[in-house]
Amino acid sequence: IKYVYAFGEGDRDMAALLGGKGAGLAEMTRLGLPVPPGFTVTTEACRTFLASGAEPPELHAQTAAALADLEDAMGRRLGAPDDPLLVSVRSGARFSMPGMMETILDIGLNDDSVVGLAKASGRERFAWDSYRRLVQMFGHTVMGVDGDLFQDAIAAHRAKLAVAADQDLDVGELHALTEEFKEIIRRETGEEFPQDPAEQLRRAVRAVFDSWNGERARVYRHREHISEDLGTAVNVQAMVFGNLGADSGTGVAFTRDPATGERGMYGDYLPDAQGEDVVSGVRDAVPLAELKRLDATSYLALGDHLRTLESHYRDLCDVEFTVERGKLWILQTRVGKRTAQAAFRIARDLREEGAINADEALVRVDGAALTRLMFPRFDVHSDDVPLARGVPASPGAAVGAVVFDSATAQRRAAEGEDVVLVRRETTPDDLPGMIAAQAVLTSRGGKTSHAAVVARGMGKVCVCGAESLTVDPVARRLTTATGTVVTEGDVVSVDGTTGTVHLGALPLTASEVGEALENGTATSEVTAAVLDALAHADAVRRLEVRANADTPEDAVRARALGAQGIGLCRTEHMFLGERRSLVEAMILARDDAARAAALGALLPLQRADFTGILAAMDGLPVTIRLLDPPLHEFLPDRTELAVRLATAVHPDPHDRELLAAVERMHEQNPMLGLRGVRLALAVPGLVAMQVRAIAEAVVERRRAGGDPRAEIMIPLVGTVEELRLVRAETERVLAEVTEETGEDLDLPIGTMIELPRAALTAGRIAQAADFFSFGTNDLTQTTWGLSRDDAEGSFVPLYLDEGVFDTSPFETIDQEGVGRLVEIGVEAGRAANPRLETGVCGEHGGDPESIHFFHQAGLDYVSCSPFRIPAARLEAGRATL
Ligand code: PEP
Ligand code: MG
Repeated sequence: IKYVYAFGEGDRDMAALLGGKGAGLAEMTRLGLPVPPGFTVTTEACRTFLASGAEPPELHAQTAAALADLEDAMGRRLGAPDDPLLVSVRSGARFSMPGMMETILDIGLNDDSVVGLAKASGRERFAWDSYRRLVQMFGHTVMGVDGDLFQDAIAAHRAKLAVAADQDLDVGELHALTEEFKEIIRRETGEEFPQDPAEQLRRAVRAVFDSWNGERARVYRHREHISEDLGTAVNVQAMVFGNLGADSGTGVAFTRDPATGERGMYGDYLPDAQGEDVVSGVRDAVPLAELKRLDATSYLALGDHLRTLESHYRDLCDVEFTVERGKLWILQTRVGKRTAQAAFRIARDLREEGAINADEALVRVDGAALTRLMFPRFDVHSDDVPLARGVPASPGAAVGAVVFDSATAQRRAAEGEDVVLVRRETTPDDLPGMIAAQAVLTSRGGKTSHAAVVARGMGKVCVCGAESLTVDPVARRLTTATGTVVTEGDVVSVDGTTGTVHLGALPLTASEVGEALENGTATSEVTAAVLDALAHADAVRRLEVRANADTPEDAVRARALGAQGIGLCRTEHMFLGERRSLVEAMILARDDAARAAALGALLPLQRADFTGILAAMDGLPVTIRLLDPPLHEFLPDRTELAVRLATAVHPDPHDRELLAAVERMHEQNPMLGLRGVRLALAVPGLVAMQVRAIAEAVVERRRAGGDPRAEIMIPLVGTVEELRLVRAETERVLAEVTEETGEDLDLPIGTMIELPRAALTAGRIAQAADFFSFGTNDLTQTTWGLSRDDAEGSFVPLYLDEGVFDTSPFETIDQEGVGRLVEIGVEAGRAANPRLETGVCGEHGGDPESIHFFHQAGLDYVSCSPFRIPAARLEAGRATL
């Protein structure tokens, strides 16, 4: 088996084997870009190593051969005493995991070659600094020594010399430091720092393999749903140096702005520095434009290479690059991460530029990004003085209590508090805290710092490089330029769109994108790009998108957002509020007359509800579901009532009657009790009242010149017999109203499929139904035997942690189980009744992944809450591509 590929041997389609980085290096090499030569050890080698604990036997010889070729290409030998070749060893998984795994630089340095490097480069300090870095990185990453021990040693040297920066340590000091580092390694591991360059390389590769299973990497994969068993490739590449003086440097560049999507190259440059300095945000970079001033040739060449990459990949790309004494090298490239807003803008721009077609542009955006853009933003007044300004690294608005470390962020978030993680700069160790926080705020680093890259990837609000802030994690406080002190627990508002931070909780206003979606008018590049994507999605999608709405206001809003009707109008809210006394009277009624009186009083109220909704959805279907929840939900709490009675001096007889009713109706498992169709059969007159209200509303709307399209839906059916009985009653009332009004009322009557039995007997049920609407909330509850009201709080979080669930089955449809029942239901239902219309109205109807499944399953529509409609339209379109 071939485990090692020279960069020239692979291409971009080999990302599964070579990792994203390795495939990018291979592709750039083929394109003739100036890539320092090297080779990639495959993910397959890593998987073998992780499975068996040992490298595959062939790997050693293959690596040696690839190294020999690399040495020939460079005309230098790894770690040779005179003019040594040095290499970097970097992880590179199939999917980018920024900063989550290990990197070791300067492999090949030892007590002899450091002298050779000093001579060959003419820079003694540089050579010793490189050696010092290697011993430190190797000691920590490969040999497992606590990194703080090295940091403490450096700090001691700085303190002794009273200098602030590492750069101020001279050769002698660095020499002494390197010896100290070696001593630390000896003391901590009982082992010497290996002097043999080949051994260094071998162990570095192995350490990168191991880092696949490091804590950070595992947390990241879990969050990003990256499979555990992919493994990482390892890239071994000739070192080039950005820290050889003023004519050297290093940076990160994007083909377009990854935050806004604006055209034109964008990035950061750090003169006289190593690559890691940029990404870690340890030193503050300058804008790329500065490189133009410092080294116009490299700047122009960089621009050319970025254009080559973008037109080759037909997408936003980013690169890490190094200038070594005026010579530009590209060290890696990938299709760049971007904000939601940039994703839409770039997709549209690339389409307009002719790089991609409309289908491809639609694939480049998604519902999650659109939803993020619809979140409200802060309502900032011009006289609000921010605490600080920083780089707007990842947009959005977040409010939370300030915390200064990852552990506190996790703890307080777990207690239900919204927190903002504040750090000088983040490192990969901060990842769990970043996940837990609403926003991340740093005082150092630019748009390409760790905090920015990771936050953007997660869609988390981030402001970085707020330099006027002094962050003191030990005292747990930050101080602003004007001396305001913010201590742990104080609430701040972080605006990732503008890059400002404010004290206290700022009010929120609607988002520009949300408003544009409602009015259908573009007000900016971003809103134009969003409308563009949606227009194409609407053109290609097969699934209709309806709304779950039960007030006229929601219906209006849903329609503005593109709803093609109402897929679920729940009628229970119509039984609450001031109508409670009428509902109580209905429940408590001793005889038919009393019940009829109560229902009679409810009738005009219901009719008015339906009239309003039918008006808002004029010309579009409105699926009205008959009352579903158990009746005790409309009565007072049992304990409260009992206490009230027990403590009253003159107990209210009405209360006594209520309590008796509550006790009579009490159920251990109300979700599995008297609800839905069972209620319809058990409470005489209820169905008749609701159906009459619907029918009369339809008549009223027609007479007002409208085009009402009401449909009647019966919930929680388990057997066709239930449906037959309620259908008969429904048709009886419709006929009655027809008789009274002369209006033809042939309204569609359908059922919800929300019990496994209903799905399994769908063929029979379909004989009595004009439509099916899958209630996947209850269907999930009953298929799993998992209470929808308790699950999220009880063991679902544990199951998510343990990997039993990838996501909660109440959020994303469980395709194998619940989804299978949907498929069975659709198939059997259609076979029995070819005119059967099918949809889904559980929460899953608005979930992107689930929408793709429902498209595959052949449903006619999905129905979701108004806010999710644009994303659902988008995903329904994407599902066809
Ligand atoms: C469902 O069960 O999926 C559904 C839409 O009904 P409800 O959520 O009202 O029970
Ligand atoms: Mg239900």
